[in-house]
Amino acid sequence: MPPKQKKGPKPNRPQRPAVEEDLDALLAAFTAKASTKPPPPPPVAAGPPAPPAPAVPATLFPPSATVVWTCAFCYTATGDRPRTACGSCHKRMYCSERCRAADWEPGPGQGHRTWCPLACGEEHVDWEVRPVAEGKGLGLVAKTPFARGARIMVERLLRLSDVRPPAGRPEVLQAVQALMPAGAPVETKFQLNKLGGDDPDDPDGGGVCVRMSRANHQCGANAYHTLVHDVKLLLARVPIAAGEEICIEYRPFLDPSRRPDLEQDRRILEGKWGVVCPGDCQCRRADLLADWQRMWELDTAIMEQGRMGRTGDAFAKVKALLRLHDRHQSAHVSYIRTLYDGVSMAVTTRKLLPEAKRLAAEAYGMALAAYGPDSPDTRKYERLRSNIASHPNYLTLGGS
Ligand SMILES: [Zn+2]
Ligand SMILES: [Zn+2]
Ligand SMILES: [Zn+2]
Repeated sequence: MPPKQKKGPKPNRPQRPAVEEDLDALLAAFTAKASTKPPPPPPVAAGPPAPPAPAVPATLFPPSATVVWTCAFCYTATGDRPRTACGSCHKRMYCSERCRAADWEPGPGQGHRTWCPLACGEEHVDWEVRPVAEGKGLGLVAKTPFARGARIMVERLLRLSDVRPPAGRPEVLQAVQALMPAGAPVETKFQLNKLGGDDPDDPDGGGVCVRMSRANHQCGANAYHTLVHDVKLLLARVPIAAGEEICIEYRPFLDPSRRPDLEQDRRILEGKWGVVCPGDCQCRRADLLADWQRMWELDTAIMEQGRMGRTGDAFAKVKALLRLHDRHQSAHVSYIRTLYDGVSMAVTTRKLLPEAKRLAAEAYGMALAAYGPDSPDTRKYERLRSNIASHPNYLTLGGS
């Protein structure tokens, strides 16, 4: 029997900000633009590739001296103490019982019922929004250490319709208006602060999170975000120390689903957000760029060879790509996607079935740990793990 022409549905690609074409208008709106030019890149070292740079913070920030609590649901400031906390985790803080109740069920808030039993970081307990380096304004800083894969925060994604009258709540609009750039219209705030947006599964064009959108950019960032239903998860990509700034990538780095084009990325980073990569930025390392190129080539070849029915060749490439994911501690969303590609290839022949089962179990474990039991990805891999024959490619090659 010939192989299926297409692989089964793929896991969501990593969320990433949309590329904004009208850079000039945004540049004019961006008041906090950095003006310093980076020093020239360091010379390219010859010889074998160096190991990936450890995510060691350059600066550790002490906790802020003054703490202003804000309600986790309506963002209203309650002064130097919260008025009420979740009675179960005792970490999520509210201005009122009403907000606590409204945040519990799925709806306009987090849907805390789902996330309360899972370990999730909360403001002022595990992280805070505070001034960081000169010229960067506010940023997100860890108050407690996070292990790789830990949920730093889980926050409701706001669409434009959530803040615009008549449906929008005024206190939510006010919180969004506090985002950078100062004084800009709310549409501009959305364009510059939105998380995700060019995912084909996300036709609304992404949205903003009042707290998560404060995270600054860094190439090779220590955290990344992903969407589960209507909430954004911020996950630690690598271990994060207390006092370390938590950053995300406005342009995903070392992402196998993107062809590396650092010139374009730097142009957009600077034009849209005023971000200038420093001379020692990870994106200037030739060895990392070579690995990224290799990851992109492998990812593309896996898809092509799979379509041609060369699933054994494609599976070998999956294993090579997984080794690169290990080496660079890729975001789970990217890692899981390759695991699923591996399942899709290995499941076509009886010989590789044990590998398919192993990778499905690994994808399930990773999705469960990162996204919790209720996410569509976790459920999908749970089904696959318990019944590998449910995969559409099951024994389509040599399964007699
Ligand atoms: Zn409230
Ligand atoms: Zn709770
Ligand atoms: Zn960079």
